[in-house]
Amino acid sequence: MLVKRGIAVSPGVAIGPAWLFGAERLRVRHYTTKSAIESDIARFHAALDAVCAEIEKNQQIANEQLGEQYGAIFGAHLLMARSPQLSDEVERLIREKIHTPEHACKQVLERYAEVFRNLGNQYHAERAHDINDLQSRLLRQLLGLQRQELGDLTKPVLVLAHNLTPSETASLKKEFVLGFATEVGGATSHTAILAGALELPAVVGIGEFLSEIESGDKVIIDGNRGEVIINPVESVLAEYLESQQKFRTSYAVLESERAAEPFTADGTHIQLLGNIEFPVEAEHCLERGAEGIGLYRTEFLYLGAETEPTEDDHYNAYCQVIQALGDREVVIRTMDLGADKVPTIGARSSDEAQPAEMPNPALGLRSIRISLQDLKGFKTQLRAILRAARHALPRRVKIMFPMISSLYEFRQAKMVLHDVMDDLDEAGLPFQREVAVGMMVEVPSAAILAEEFAAEVDFFSIGTNDLIQYTLAVDRGDPAVSSFYRTGDPAILRLIRMVVTAADNHNIPVTVCGQMSSDPKFLPLLIGMGIRQISVTPHSIPELKAVLRQLTIPQCKDIAAHAEWLGLSRSVENYLQGELRKICPQLGR
Ligand code: PEP
Ligand code: MG
Repeated sequence: MLVKRGIAVSPGVAIGPAWLFGAERLRVRHYTTKSAIESDIARFHAALDAVCAEIEKNQQIANEQLGEQYGAIFGAHLLMARSPQLSDEVERLIREKIHTPEHACKQVLERYAEVFRNLGNQYHAERAHDINDLQSRLLRQLLGLQRQELGDLTKPVLVLAHNLTPSETASLKKEFVLGFATEVGGATSHTAILAGALELPAVVGIGEFLSEIESGDKVIIDGNRGEVIINPVESVLAEYLESQQKFRTSYAVLESERAAEPFTADGTHIQLLGNIEFPVEAEHCLERGAEGIGLYRTEFLYLGAETEPTEDDHYNAYCQVIQALGDREVVIRTMDLGADKVPTIGARSSDEAQPAEMPNPALGLRSIRISLQDLKGFKTQLRAILRAARHALPRRVKIMFPMISSLYEFRQAKMVLHDVMDDLDEAGLPFQREVAVGMMVEVPSAAILAEEFAAEVDFFSIGTNDLIQYTLAVDRGDPAVSSFYRTGDPAILRLIRMVVTAADNHNIPVTVCGQMSSDPKFLPLLIGMGIRQISVTPHSIPELKAVLRQLTIPQCKDIAAHAEWLGLSRSVENYLQGELRKICPQLGR
């Protein structure tokens, strides 16, 4: 038995056979014979056709599960596979150099991937990854190997991978994937956020472990404790089967909380909103008992897109969410592109929009900084939001700017919004003028100047994922420093306190939308600090409601006062965990 520890990112226990994704080693013969040239060329074309059919199938699955815009990711793969240049070059190597089709495909596609890798920026590096993927598919077809395809699983397995991209994560079929674990990734990386949205037990950031495991080995993924247990001994397996059952039972009990009113035991309403990445998740959020959408991460509209989303693409996505929400509120965050997220289209076509070598992407050209440079794209998005908001009641659609780090930046963004309103007026196009305009507080400077910001914004939303990263100087996606990423750090509590006080002084609402608010141990603290709205991963809503209904405001204030008095992050987190155990022993944490 081998136990590997990583970062728990999505709760639950999964037990089953391991399935190693993307870890195959493919050996190929280099030369064919002259007499086999024609049949080898035919073999190459048959393999290429089969690969195209595979990609089309994936596209269909993604279309069905996440919507057509998402399926478009595979459209790009298809274009690459069908490019006449690829066929010509492979054929030429087979004919002229007597290469086997396997070796010819490798030669050509490795050269393409190398060119893309050398271009240096994140987008091109991802294209190199796509080319490698195409190469593996072709080789598997040519060698008659069983394809290792996420969308093609037919039996329930645990997916173990070095890394899963957000698009690979989103293509996991829930009936066949019981959970997943990866060598890299951090607690608030986008793959982790998607794991939560899919409600799959998941552990990331384990470090190298795939070489110690084979497909088919029995594995346990413990998404509560962040452990992966390989070939467990009988006693451990029995223990886990029991705890899996307990988790299911307590989850089923919590399900009854979905419809419960989100009030504390002494009658204070706490607004529970959901975080979404794709329009299809809006319904899911309501099913879980959310009262609205507190964070719609619109940058996911760019995932896999080869061209800038059009105003209609934006408009259709926002209408879908607004319609699903009825008269509930929707906070649409303008694109937070760059860093660990979706690269900009600008960076895809011109290296000037995003420097090829960005030494520190999280501190580089990201988010609102990109929007304010690419005014055309920013205005397109704002036009679409304002037009779509016409289908909602006044002020039900809120526009939120991400990564605001100075007053000047917020004012500039707001000015662009007003310009867009003038343009729409001039064009005689109907839109909603009554939209609330707020900002994410996720850069320490924004928290420090919260009083000044509060005089100008309609609302605050505290993004703890980035606030922690920037305050404690810890990359949120890097497992090597994950022990320094402490949500309960006194510096973080101090900054939240400053934001809440400023919001209170100016009578504006403040939400916490980072992962901190999805963790039930922080709920009494946040309420005690004066937070009355949180926006969370939808699957955590029933559990948060169950905790909420046990709390009273004086009790939360006492908990917050004690936590804020403690000097060390570990003391804060241990204390809050202990309090949660007392408040809700049935959660079994
Ligand atoms: C955050 O930073 O806390 C946040 C909610 O934004 P994102 O996770 O999308 O960066
Ligand atoms: Mg953020």
